[in-house]
Amino acid sequence: MTAISSADPIPTGGPLDDAQAQLAAAVAHLKCPPGLHEMLAMPRRELQVAVPLRRDDGTTAVYSGYRVQHNLSRGPAKGGLRYSTAVDLDEVRALAMWMSWKCALVDVPYGGAKGGIAIEPRDHSDGELERVTRRYTSEILPIIGPDMDIPAPDIGTDERTMAWIMDTYSTTKGYTVPGVVTGKPISLGGSLGRATATSRGVAHVALMALSSTGMEASKASAAVQGFGKVGRDAARLLNEAGVSVKAVSDVDGAVFAPDGLDISRLSAHVDREGTVSGFDGAEPLAPADLLTLDVDVLVPAAIEGVLTEHNAHDVQASIVVEGANGPTTQAADEILTTRGVTIVPDILANAGGVIVSYFEWVQSNQAYQWREAEVRDRLEERMTRGWRDVADYAGAHSLTYREAATALSVSRVLEAHKLRGLYP
Ligand code: GLU
Repeated sequence: MTAISSADPIPTGGPLDDAQAQLAAAVAHLKCPPGLHEMLAMPRRELQVAVPLRRDDGTTAVYSGYRVQHNLSRGPAKGGLRYSTAVDLDEVRALAMWMSWKCALVDVPYGGAKGGIAIEPRDHSDGELERVTRRYTSEILPIIGPDMDIPAPDIGTDERTMAWIMDTYSTTKGYTVPGVVTGKPISLGGSLGRATATSRGVAHVALMALSSTGMEASKASAAVQGFGKVGRDAARLLNEAGVSVKAVSDVDGAVFAPDGLDISRLSAHVDREGTVSGFDGAEPLAPADLLTLDVDVLVPAAIEGVLTEHNAHDVQASIVVEGANGPTTQAADEILTTRGVTIVPDILANAGGVIVSYFEWVQSNQAYQWREAEVRDRLEERMTRGWRDVADYAGAHSLTYREAATALSVSRVLEAHKLRGLYP
């Protein structure tokens, strides 16, 4: 890889450009020297692997896999593993960088990483997914471990995937190593409260954002894009807090109820049908229209790059809470900010997942399980502290929440780097 000039981020388009632009704004604010900017702009380690899969029909298919460790100054690398045909090296680089900032922002002792395989999980049997996961794990084995790099679920992966990674890793070591992954099944050392942690954090900051703008939850409305690992429980928890959730969507469609959706009936429908589409308690909605609905809070909780220069002018919500990583492009961010929309940035809004991943890792390493109430209390405490840190920094320096969150995170990573010094 060639050196990156601080004035000239890698021009790839997509999430990496957004991540580099956010970093550039933070280092400009912090008056960070160009050499340190270059260091933060480049991932520390990247591993690209070919992952051969023996298909159920006996043929062989080969998929590209990646693991990128962006920064290791604050501790072992940490971040999810994504299965999606949209996965490529630049996407994984961006997601790894965001993990570095996220971990620093909520003060968990990790650097940032991300992995992915360019595969559509819905096109594969459980057996194929297990084989591809085990082979990918064996390919990245030299750079993962409980003290090196700890994968977790992300789009297209789940607790089963983590169990296979843990088993493959442990088998090669000859003993069980629960701390090599987080987001494991509870019976294998997973943490109580991990499955809903990201959603809980999203709902928590959404409610804090509402109260900071003087809006009562019971008078507020929301739309949630994505009804999976993050959006589903975020919609439920917002609803339980009194917010009227008027629309939700998933990859197959969107549904809208002007007086608010019955989230528990909708969830039962999704359990039966596998999609929100066809829910009889709502009207169908064009998925793109969800983003511009007349609601107070918009929660994009699906994939990156959904709020763009093409739809940002039409967003009616006054608060955007980024449940997904990187849902707002740089251009959309500027438009929304100019229009006075409050954006709670991804590295804060969806940090609940990695916070409870950290708790799970601590529990795994100590072979001791915490009570769910303890997990929830500690999660809430860290989300509240993260929110206050960002709001205070934004206020003190006249920055947006995203600028403040990135600057604060980058300053913490730089502080760790400076204290450790440069070897040799
Ligand atoms: N994939 C999640 C994220 O993007 C969780 C990462 C983790 O727990 O390590 O934050």
